[in-house]
Amino acid sequence: MAYTHAIRIAIVGAGAGGSSAAYYLTKAARQNGDIIDIDVFEKRYQAGGRSRTVTPYNDSSYSPIELGASIFVGANKNMVKAVREFDYNLADTDIGSFGIYDGDSFVFESSEWTYWNYVKLLWRYGYTAPRTVQIHVKQAMEKFLQLYDAKFLRNHGPWEHPKDLVADLGLDGLVEESGLTHFHNSRFASEVVDAATRVNYGQNIDSIHALGALVSMAGNDGMAVDGGNWRVFQRFLEHSNATVYFGCEVGDIRRTSSGLWQLYLGDGEHVERLYDYVIFATPLPLFRVPYVDLYVTLVATNASTYARDALRGLPSHPPSMILTTDALARHTGKTSQLELNSVNYVQQARKGSKDDDVDVDDEWIVKIFSESPSAWGDQDLHVLFGGSQNVGWTHRHVFKAYPYLQPENASSLPPFEVDDGVFYINAMEPVLSTMESETVAARNVIGLLGAKLGYGKGWKDACTTNDDDWIWIDC
Ligand SMILES: Cc1cc2nc3c(=O)[nH]c(=O)nc-3n(C[C@H](O)[C@H](O)[C@H](O)COP(=O)(O)OP(=O)(O)OC[C@H]3O[C@@H](n4cnc5c(N)ncnc54)[C@H](O)[C@@H]3O)c2cc1C
Repeated sequence: MAYTHAIRIAIVGAGAGGSSAAYYLTKAARQNGDIIDIDVFEKRYQAGGRSRTVTPYNDSSYSPIELGASIFVGANKNMVKAVREFDYNLADTDIGSFGIYDGDSFVFESSEWTYWNYVKLLWRYGYTAPRTVQIHVKQAMEKFLQLYDAKFLRNHGPWEHPKDLVADLGLDGLVEESGLTHFHNSRFASEVVDAATRVNYGQNIDSIHALGALVSMAGNDGMAVDGGNWRVFQRFLEHSNATVYFGCEVGDIRRTSSGLWQLYLGDGEHVERLYDYVIFATPLPLFRVPYVDLYVTLVATNASTYARDALRGLPSHPPSMILTTDALARHTGKTSQLELNSVNYVQQARKGSKDDDVDVDDEWIVKIFSESPSAWGDQDLHVLFGGSQNVGWTHRHVFKAYPYLQPENASSLPPFEVDDGVFYINAMEPVLSTMESETVAARNVIGLLGAKLGYGKGWKDACTTNDDDWIWIDC
């Protein structure tokens, strides 16, 4: 297509997907000597979307706490590279002890000693089931890592549909069956992998697809950005040439008679400029992908551990993180009594920055995930922490957190290009919903768009050894 003006592209949403799309697109245009105008519309007043922080007591002298997406792992190459590139420090992400609660008792408790943990695992679950999960996690990870491999990308992608992406990676079978089926109903899957899927995706092992289950088990080298992961997404925008309009909610888009796209804001006003392309980087209700309603409760407490009678069967030295499994309800056929996905002493309350931070005496930050709107009111918290005098501050937020990662044929999912010139980054989410996978989906969308803009041969020729070109792949 011959353009009579600089190409104009609108991006809706400034979370992981939208901000990285602006960044990748800027780099792609530069590489191709092109001049494009990018406008990003974000309804909040900050970048990051579901990656956001709050400070205890709304007091900015406290270190921020992740309210949404908190962890990425070493295999998340775009995130890791961005953190290095932007020279950010990593926050402490040590997980302490953990126990798995089934609503009646603790079916597993970790110990301080790695060796003893191993023995306990063997004792309850045998050797084969945990080992099988470990092997499958490794294999899935290796397949996913092909997305950063130059040779692989020369022959594959950009993908028009998530089903083609998972098929080329060899992961398609994993999105079609449940985690529990994939692991042959093993007790390990039903309890331990279930605990991981419930804390990571608010879903039980028998209703989540096997890829979601494997990703939930892949996080043993968790990292987070000091000050908040959202800072990566803010920096993506700063390093792009996009103009960012915060506080601007896009309500609708319509194609004009000239074939360009007109944006309408939430208040019905239209945006003056017309756009050649629009990229949606937020879930669109139009596609009827159901999302998990996740109730996040943050608490600052001076109780160093949970109250003795807070949960039935709580050990005398409670673990700092309580994970949950629905195995009991599954096995007995009774309705689940769990009102909790997880509760976790995430950190001691701190003031100052990482270098000079000071622990606030006897005050801890606890994070609770639940899908039950009735749970974790003030009374519940008083029971959990042994009295109202032990609860200093609470913060509650309900997220449309991630899609239900239902086992299904990926063909039923929305495509990456939903109309001529209108792209949809969150098409990826029912396959995988993480900060990293959203950057991967953004890169893919820029690959599709780059092909339309005549950027070389698009995706395939974009790999050079010049480090500046890292947008496409690690060459
Ligand atoms: C509690 C919780 C914990 C999680 N934990 C992890 C984790 O540990 N690790 C991990 O990798 N992932 C985690 N996730 C998932 C992760 O947050 C998401 O997969 C990822 O952040 C999605 O990024 P996104 O940019 O696609 O969407 P979002 O982050 O949702 O960004 C969309 C943006 O679009 C804006 N927007 C929406 N509608 C409009 C509109 N009409 N006009 C303008 N702007 C609009 C929104 O305000 C938002 O900023 C977690 C999610 C939650 C909720």
